[in-house]
Amino acid sequence: MFTSIRSRLWLTYILMIVGVLCVVTFGLTVYLLKNPPATRQTFQRLQIVANFIQIREAGQLQGLPPERLKNALQRTGQAVSARIILLNPAGEVLGDSLAGAAAPPPAFAALPKNPSAAPNLEFTDAKGRRWLYTLRQLDDGSVLVVAAEPPVIPLRQVLREDILPPLTQTGLLALIVALLLGYWLARWISAPLRRISSAARALAAGEHQKIPIVGPAEVRSLAQSFNEMMERMNANQQSQRDFVANVSHELKTPLTSIQGFAQAIMDGAANSPEQVQQAASVIHTEAGRMNRLVLDLLDLARIDSGIAEFKREAVDLTRLLQSVVEKFTPQATQAQVELRAEIGALPALVGDMDRLVQVFTNLVDNAIKHTPAGGRAAMRARPVDGFVEISVSDTGPGIPADDLSRIFERFYQVDKSRRGGGGHGVGLGLAITREIVQAHAGSITAYSIPERGSTFTVKLPVARPDDSTLAHRKG
Ligand code: ADP
Repeated sequence: MFTSIRSRLWLTYILMIVGVLCVVTFGLTVYLLKNPPATRQTFQRLQIVANFIQIREAGQLQGLPPERLKNALQRTGQAVSARIILLNPAGEVLGDSLAGAAAPPPAFAALPKNPSAAPNLEFTDAKGRRWLYTLRQLDDGSVLVVAAEPPVIPLRQVLREDILPPLTQTGLLALIVALLLGYWLARWISAPLRRISSAARALAAGEHQKIPIVGPAEVRSLAQSFNEMMERMNANQQSQRDFVANVSHELKTPLTSIQGFAQAIMDGAANSPEQVQQAASVIHTEAGRMNRLVLDLLDLARIDSGIAEFKREAVDLTRLLQSVVEKFTPQATQAQVELRAEIGALPALVGDMDRLVQVFTNLVDNAIKHTPAGGRAAMRARPVDGFVEISVSDTGPGIPADDLSRIFERFYQVDKSRRGGGGHGVGLGLAITREIVQAHAGSITAYSIPERGSTFTVKLPVARPDDSTLAHRKG
């Protein structure tokens, strides 16, 4: 019952129409009960009657003794269907056509100066009955009051005769229009929604179908969000597939190597102690490589799932960066790369020292690795607007623009031919670096001019008294 959009729209329309009709009925009833036209008509009749009596009867009424005056007033009153009252100039009642039959009128103390010009008047008699009346001044100064009760129509009659017939007709018409409109509107809204729901069912079954963006604005935005969600799911699934393929690929090379050299030892193909030593050394290197890969993957998995612990400790960044540069000096000297450091006094930072060492180790290591002999690598650090900006640059071959945007993706390597080769990584270093920087509420960007070199810039927020920029757990 009322679960579909259509039935709810219909119900809303019906309730609205009934509500509006009730208000209209109430308003009309109150208006008709007051009945201003009939009241106006009564006044007009009273005016005519008063004029008539003033002209034709007034002479006969003036100066009559009370008993005869009463009879004369009674006769005239009956003839014109009105209550006739005669007042002396002081406003006291001389005679009343309904004396005895109706309660006496109140004292007419303040008579208007020109009674016949007085607007519509009303008095309430001693018993609370309302009377409309008009006044006429007679020649001898007495005042003629011609009164009649306001027209009263019973409520039931008003409802039955004046209100219900037109209201039921218009109500029915409005209902029919509302039902048709509701039907059309419901179809307009629900058709695209049905499409979205069938696309969602299809998605659950593994089918990806885009939905057209049509219908009202809210439904269009829903369809758009649905399509975006589907695209993201697609991308996620693709990246999961890529991830598994990459991991398998990276494991396959060392495993094949290990298997081959172990086989050589077992078969006796490596028969001299030097050959066995060499085979064992390769197995050791490859196993180490696999170990590093697995550790990196575990690290990423921990950061992804939010269980990686990021310490919140005061970090002396100046010393940290200097120690990283010092650590790499022998490696740089060996690679004939000039390694420079321009690190000024830096503000305090809160974060995980070991993780930050990992970030800059990776960047400096990459810089030295990718810089040919005779080249230069440098680390610079300076405070900028609540942040510390640390850049690691080199004069290596640079990174092509197409690769630059993907450099932080997992397993992404610029020179694919070197994938899995001896001392090279597997393309996880920068991915982990970015995760760590982001976990410190910082950012990392790469800038490069091919053949001229690359610069990686890390921005880390400095510690504030409210501790809001402290390193936090990811997720
Ligand atoms: P890897 O561990 O394989 O070096 P990274 O994630 O550290 O992986 O780097 C990804 C890719 O980015 C590398 O394959 C490398 O080609 C490229 N790259 C990283 N740093 C530099 C650099 N300073 N100069 C040129 N290329 C770089």
